[in-house]
Amino acid sequence: MKKETQCVHSGSYRDSQERGINTPIFTSSSYEYLDREETPYPRNFNTPNQDAVVRKVCALEGAESGVLFSSGMAAMSTAILAFAVSGDHVVMLDELYGGTHAFATDAFERLGIEYSFVATDAKSVCQAIAPHTKVIVIESPTNPLLHVFDIREIAKRAREKGITTIFDNTFASPVNQNPLKLGIDIVVHSGTKYLGGHSDICSGVAVTSRERAEHIRALAKHLGGSLNAVTCYLLERSLKTLALRVDRQSDNALRVAEFLETEERVSRVYYPGLPGFPGHDIAASQMKAYGGMLSFELDEGLVDTSTFLRRLLIIKPAVSLGGIESTICAPAVTSHARISAEERKRIGITNSLLRLSVGIEHVDDLIDDLEQAMHTK
Ligand SMILES: *Cc1c(COP(=O)(O)O)cnc(C)c1O
Repeated sequence: MKKETQCVHSGSYRDSQERGINTPIFTSSSYEYLDREETPYPRNFNTPNQDAVVRKVCALEGAESGVLFSSGMAAMSTAILAFAVSGDHVVMLDELYGGTHAFATDAFERLGIEYSFVATDAKSVCQAIAPHTKVIVIESPTNPLLHVFDIREIAKRAREKGITTIFDNTFASPVNQNPLKLGIDIVVHSGTKYLGGHSDICSGVAVTSRERAEHIRALAKHLGGSLNAVTCYLLERSLKTLALRVDRQSDNALRVAEFLETEERVSRVYYPGLPGFPGHDIAASQMKAYGGMLSFELDEGLVDTSTFLRRLLIIKPAVSLGGIESTICAPAVTSHARISAEERKRIGITNSLLRLSVGIEHVDDLIDDLEQAMHTK
């Protein structure tokens, strides 16, 4: 089946009793145990509504099995801790999602896990591999500068050395990129973003081989970050339109990026879909389309950033991403506020850098909105 069809049909629970065409919402936390091998229980990650979502994401990512969580960070932290223990070493990109970055710096030392943060390219990742490296955590495109690197190269090197690779595929979504098919071991999503897609669900998922999924599930049962049936149902419902939404968001983002590139009040545009963008060729070889996320820098001499944000009429200055509505944020004061000003400058996150999550509105309205809001000086 193609992605669009998988989104609609894969994984759904067949209601043989009433023959309704949707997965029913199974609210029970207690199930009869006689005459069955495995009894469902929400915190054992094996209820019908959890299963339906996992099966759909597995179909979309080309995975055998997975575990659904109550947040993206529950998925990421549980996946890492399932494969890294005291004495092990973890290689991570310094541009990883802020929460994953903070998890390492705040918690790894106490857990006895060593870690290295490296620059966002395959060479730096491979060079950081030590004899006791057990896990590599990466994401592409990165937040907020949309760096793209060769996923296959890292996956291949890690396989040779028996290192488990964990890939945060939240930005690309399973519609545009399937890291497992490029040799990655575990794919993690924050379901709060594109999978949920309507800015009203917090969830996460890790998908992988059957064996690794069992390993993650075993730890997940102790840590306990499971998702309730009603939210599972909402997530399954959202996933039915994932391909439609992401296709439109990707088309819109490319058009917006092209507009911003021609706009004299914009000094720089970061979007892997632009032919002149570094990493465009690699992105073209490992992504279907380039996704709904882009960043750009306003020319501070011509536009006042804070006035620009207040003048926007359709695009909302808001945190998070991946919703059907367009949102925009300044990483320097939101996602990357914890990082020192010098460090931000080194990475390239200026005060006039804005990250745009492009929604499914008509692209002409989005471009008009950006254009009118730039008349600030
Ligand atoms: C939001 C996000 C996460 C964390 O997800 P939560 O659902 O907020 O826990 C992880 N990775 C990326 C890339 C994200 O954008």
